[in-house]
Amino acid sequence: MVAGNWKLHGSLQLIDRFAAALLGNAAVETLLLPPALYLAAMRERGLDAKLGVQNVHAAQTGAHTGEIAAEMAVELGASHALVGHSERRRDCLETNAAVAAKFHAARRAALAPILCVGETLDERRAGEENDVVRAQLEAVFEAGAPTADDVIAYEPVWAIGTGETATPAQAQAMHGFIRDVLRGTPARIIYGGSVHPGNAAALFAEQDVDGGLVGGASLDPAQFNSIIEAAAEANQQKHADA
Ligand code: PEP
Repeated sequence: MVAGNWKLHGSLQLIDRFAAALLGNAAVETLLLPPALYLAAMRERGLDAKLGVQNVHAAQTGAHTGEIAAEMAVELGASHALVGHSERRRDCLETNAAVAAKFHAARRAALAPILCVGETLDERRAGEENDVVRAQLEAVFEAGAPTADDVIAYEPVWAIGTGETATPAQAQAMHGFIRDVLRGTPARIIYGGSVHPGNAAALFAEQDVDGGLVGGASLDPAQFNSIIEAAAEANQQKHADA
């Protein structure tokens, strides 16, 4: 899977550029997560990608000004929802418990959740990365194991939007750890944190890296296409090796 998180970026003009240039690949599940306001426009343009939202509220309806419900996202054509992105954990003070509620709200609406987990630089320097990620996973999965529809995105906070990427070995180590904590889960585990055309192939070649969550490079159709291509090649190689 290659998922593009547009964060607070995008315009009708950018959507038109993607509609003209995005090259899907049958071997790679491709997803774009624009600001939710643009879902309808993206659906109308018929982009060669699934659509997702960057956040949902835990409730289906209610007095929650400014929020969107998972069910609303489904109505507008979304198939996936990010939950627990580190920027929301930081900016909106989302706790592990709040993230778990959103995860289950997405499932309630049959929106496949993409659970973001990852440690800060201070936590990694203190050697706490495994404990932090384990706690983030357990908060969500204490109620039940992940399914094949769920996606986990390992995003070391120190690598998001910084230009600094985890090495393939660091990514593999954490993805292997996540797979162990989740007892060999069928959920895909994708890597996020400054993925770009120059590092995607090496990251995706790792055994437990099932794709990428891409921020900055997902705003440029040519870069995004080349990351999708890298995922397709890694997928083919893994099948050939199996
Ligand atoms: C992200 O938005 O989740 C992300 C990983 O951003 P970037 O690729 O810009 O680091």
